[in-house]
Amino acid sequence: MRRISVFGSTGSIGVNTLDLLTRQGGAGAYQVVALTGGRNVDLLASQARALRAEIAVTAYEDCLPALRDALHGSGIEAAAGQAALIEAADRPADWIMSAIVGAAGLAPGFRALRHGTTLALANKESLVTAGPLLLAEAKRHNARILPVDSEHSAIFQGLVGEDISEVERIIITASGGAFRDWPLEKLRHATVAEASTHPNWAMGQRITIDSASMFNKALEVIETKEYFGVSPEMVEVLVHPESIVHALVGFKDGALMAHLGAPDMRHAIGYALNWPARRELPVARLDLAQIGRLNFQTPDLERFPALGLAQEVMRIGGLAGAVFNAAKEAALDLFIGQEIGFLDMTALVEKVLAQMSARQGLANPPTCLDTVLEADLEARRLAFEIAQN
Ligand code: NDP
Repeated sequence: MRRISVFGSTGSIGVNTLDLLTRQGGAGAYQVVALTGGRNVDLLASQARALRAEIAVTAYEDCLPALRDALHGSGIEAAAGQAALIEAADRPADWIMSAIVGAAGLAPGFRALRHGTTLALANKESLVTAGPLLLAEAKRHNARILPVDSEHSAIFQGLVGEDISEVERIIITASGGAFRDWPLEKLRHATVAEASTHPNWAMGQRITIDSASMFNKALEVIETKEYFGVSPEMVEVLVHPESIVHALVGFKDGALMAHLGAPDMRHAIGYALNWPARRELPVARLDLAQIGRLNFQTPDLERFPALGLAQEVMRIGGLAGAVFNAAKEAALDLFIGQEIGFLDMTALVEKVLAQMSARQGLANPPTCLDTVLEADLEARRLAFEIAQN
């Protein structure tokens, strides 16, 4: 039986992953090893019971008593904290879903690779912060990383049977998020509630706000460059309000291969789960005649400057991705806490990048995960310091 773990099982990607596992036979078809979550211990415990997991892990030590209570009598182990997450990643598994949100998802996924496990990677921050290290670790241990971000899954599917050296460009689409048509002045006063709704996708709050600011797309541009090993100039972004075309791969002969699908993450998750096979998935089938029309626009870098920052991050290379992501996470915390405005997020990230670049230089590639985590911590500290002054 295939052994499966899901990191971040209580989140949006995690819940969709478990939905597919359940539809594909659940505990009768898979040996679920570890499920991990954060504060939502009731959901974590009920998931672990339903799928008869070996262990449930919460990231937070103070949640352990509640998790133990909720699992009482089930025979399922309960554990908490960062060390427990790493220990869960050490448990033999054939396939692990990496769906913790933020840079917190990096270390467990990285660890799992040393066991040759196939890593289904939803956590885009892993590639943005430590892409070369992660890919080298996978290569060293003969482990496979399968992309789960819908755009990257679409590109991956577009490249089946193709040679990456014959690719001329890769276009990832962006819905434009909640504020696609908002003028700059209105964006200044955008609230957390307004930024937390997405026109097409149902996702966790953090990625939804990142979609509204286009930080999410900025991360995805960097993720594309890292995962597919292409140059920054080859990665383009196209605003596509319908979220039907997820990505396009352009070849040297001018052909453009598009991947279309309903905006439902279970497609990309299911593709990674069943790869290299395709199995029936419970996603809506497109009726293109009914959709009738698909629209595309060039992104507005003035209203969404995060996209321009992604170019700067790729130009610097080295630790710039880790600093960019950590400063972005800190800025997002500050916005959610209503301490800074919507547009202040990009301004803050830009300052952190500039100051850390000037102070210590960021271009040298990190040699180990600790260097990445140190840069991450320092960028967060600096972001909060700048925001307070
Ligand atoms: P959610 O916020 O919905 O879920 C995040 C998961 O991580 C939850 O299980 C949460 O636990 C857990 N978690 C939160 N903080 C920590 C922490 N510090 N340490 C360990 N676990 C933690 O996120 P999404 O499912 O939306 O996104 C997950 C990842 O997938 C992100 O990297 C995102 O960018 C990426 N992604 C998401 C897509 C989507 O459609 N949602 C699409 C493509 C990529 P709890 O809730 O119990 O506190």
